[in-house]
Amino acid sequence: MASDSPSSPLSVTLFGDINVDVLMSIPSYPPPGGDAMATGLILRPGGSVANTAIVLAKLGVQVRLIGRTGNDRWADIALAPLLEYNVDVSAVRRDAGESTGLIFIPVTPDGERTMFSYRGANVRIPPQEIVPELLQGSRILHISGYNFLETPQRTSTWRAIDLAQQAGIPLSLDVGVEPALRARAEIESLLPSVSILSLGMDEASPLFNVDSPEEAAQSALERGVLAAAIKLGSQGCFLADHDRVFRQPAFPVQVVDTTGAGDAFCAGLLFAYLRRLDLPVAATIANASGALATAAIGGGPVLPGRDQLIHFLQSQENLKAEPYLQEALAELSKGIQRDSYRG
Ligand code: ADP
Repeated sequence: MASDSPSSPLSVTLFGDINVDVLMSIPSYPPPGGDAMATGLILRPGGSVANTAIVLAKLGVQVRLIGRTGNDRWADIALAPLLEYNVDVSAVRRDAGESTGLIFIPVTPDGERTMFSYRGANVRIPPQEIVPELLQGSRILHISGYNFLETPQRTSTWRAIDLAQQAGIPLSLDVGVEPALRARAEIESLLPSVSILSLGMDEASPLFNVDSPEEAAQSALERGVLAAAIKLGSQGCFLADHDRVFRQPAFPVQVVDTTGAGDAFCAGLLFAYLRRLDLPVAATIANASGALATAAIGGGPVLPGRDQLIHFLQSQENLKAEPYLQEALAELSKGIQRDSYRG
């Protein structure tokens, strides 16, 4: 995975949703109009891009987040871990006229989760707030496909993309299932400008009309993407760039909750891009980060960090002899220079 400006600081600007996940354990679904009495309640900071921001920060990368919350107690919950891990949220405005994004997630005893999403203030970010300074010092702009679903967030996202292109900053896109279905044309039009593309097969199938990760990656590369990462859940991942492809099975892990796995995977991938690591090393870090995310309930602060990743990779006895595992460990163990960042 080649990145093009090795001397610039290791920092990433991310633009996307900042939410609170409200998880409620219910015994079963009530009939319409009925009342399901919850037996447990968990509140967790969430939002795909906010999760990726936290994991990147936990890996030691300088991170700036562009987004919008309400001016309410939900915002306090959503922003607390971002502040704790020193994510720069100075560009995140609190909008008194809307709620913070809330995702209501009933969980039945078989573990099935159904989501009711209210994106609230997230979609109200106006284009005039997207100024060149937000990208200053950044080596990647990472966005979510969800940004394209509603205006003015959609217009603001195109402005951020334009500014990144003018500044020569590579673009990373995490597609998302709904956007692959509802914003397909727009996402297709963006692909020639995307350096790093992350998506699952349920996104690749509607976008590219393909059935396999190999075809999905090939389709992305043919459209101008520089590196494609296909997330395969319990099957691991498939990475491809214009030089090579690499498939890696999932790391064995005790799965508790898959929320945030894709977001943590993306963070590992971006870390690898910043460090100019080869595909097998990038796959190892991203795949391990995604696997560890499934071992904890919810997203946000419980997602993996550097020490946890190192410990996890060190415990993979069967891969010990693989040079890519050793390189991943060496890269994660290196301190990251934070001093050249201008926030
Ligand atoms: P998303 O969360 O975007 O739907 P996936 O479910 O594919 O994405 O998960 C993202 C990544 O997390 C996978 O590519 C893999 O690296 C890791 N992962 C997900 N589920 C598991 C699992 N059951 N066991 C191990 N790793 C997993």
